[in-house]
Amino acid sequence: MAAEAPPASAPTSAQILAALARVIDPERGQDIVSLGMVQGLAAKDGHVAFSIEVDAARGAKLEPLRREAEKAVDALPGVLSVTAVLTAEKAGAAPRQTGGHGHAHGHSHSPAGGAQAAGAKALIPGVRAIIAVASGKGGVGKSTTAVNLALALKAKGLKVGLLDADIYGPSQPRMMGITGRPKSLDGKIMQPMENYGIKCMSIGFLLPEEQPIIWRGPMVMGALEQMMRDVAWGELDVMVVDLPPGTGDAQLTMAQRVPLAGAVIVSTPQDIALLDARKGLNMFRKVDVPVLGIVENMSYFSCPNCGHRTDIFAHGGARREAEKLGVPFLGEIPLDIAIRETSDGGRPIVVSDPASPHSQAYRAIADAVWGQIEGKLKSAERAAPRIVIR
Ligand code: ADP
Repeated sequence: MAAEAPPASAPTSAQILAALARVIDPERGQDIVSLGMVQGLAAKDGHVAFSIEVDAARGAKLEPLRREAEKAVDALPGVLSVTAVLTAEKAGAAPRQTGGHGHAHGHSHSPAGGAQAAGAKALIPGVRAIIAVASGKGGVGKSTTAVNLALALKAKGLKVGLLDADIYGPSQPRMMGITGRPKSLDGKIMQPMENYGIKCMSIGFLLPEEQPIIWRGPMVMGALEQMMRDVAWGELDVMVVDLPPGTGDAQLTMAQRVPLAGAVIVSTPQDIALLDARKGLNMFRKVDVPVLGIVENMSYFSCPNCGHRTDIFAHGGARREAEKLGVPFLGEIPLDIAIRETSDGGRPIVVSDPASPHSQAYRAIADAVWGQIEGKLKSAERAAPRIVIR
């Protein structure tokens, strides 16, 4: 990311904490800093993010406190944006989620509520369908697939958004060729960044690239909810969500909180055999999210010099596995330097070389994905009650 000159007056963490020390928790009568409620403060070039840890039971009531904390920081000179999230941790929960258990446990984000999917839907009411792109492990090309899928959906004439939920390794700013920071007109709602006609939001726009962040379960959910709720996404046909790799609790929780129309699983031929992709399938099945299909990435090697094709790994594994598991096989993408160079260079192949066979393959995947969603959307939208104002 291009280095921005920090505004001379950007406040330090100490100054931010001093401002927050004037915010009083009304029930406990002390300030939120001495009570140890302020967690994970990150400040860079005037962009500030932190979480306020609260009791799950009090969660929903503390929205005014969250706003007050944001206002207190916002009032500091040099502050360009403030993101405060309420997080709640149930007693006895492990601070980090590690296992791949079958249920989301331990954490809940405020406002806590049972109707998760319904509540989450309200976060982004203008989005007709949300698709998650997932993988059993990192480095299989999940983000590359998410970007090219989003661009291929755009090429179909759809209004598309891209949400980078891979908060541990956000790569969408680089792959979409976007630098800079989201702007906010009113200090509350951020404008999404945009390139190639796609609205895009990533934690990578808000936090410094080189700074490692230790995310705890509740913060992950808070950051994600904010990237949905506090971003002016507007009306979109489809939002593509690039999930963090893996099938642990963080992914599972996310799959439950975001009202997903379906999931696309990206796998390489070798790890479909190693069960990584199958774990992903099972995860989505557990939370009743339809699996739209599997993409086999790095399926075969396509030589840039002579065009010769080599099946480095046992190519075709994903297709066979998909058949066996009863999920659609969406297509195969070769291992090709052109795909790597374009996605890492911020000019994904679907826009930089739309006539290439790889771009055609991504567009075929987009057709197969949208084909499954469109029918369901239309019947759901027909069935939904209409509000008539007379
Ligand atoms: P993940 O999101 O699964 O961690 P990425 O999409 O970031 O994976 O891809 C990892 C690396 O592999 C990137 O450098 C990307 O450009 C490259 N890559 C992904 N898919 C392909 C492909 N089909 N051919 C060549 N390189 C690829």
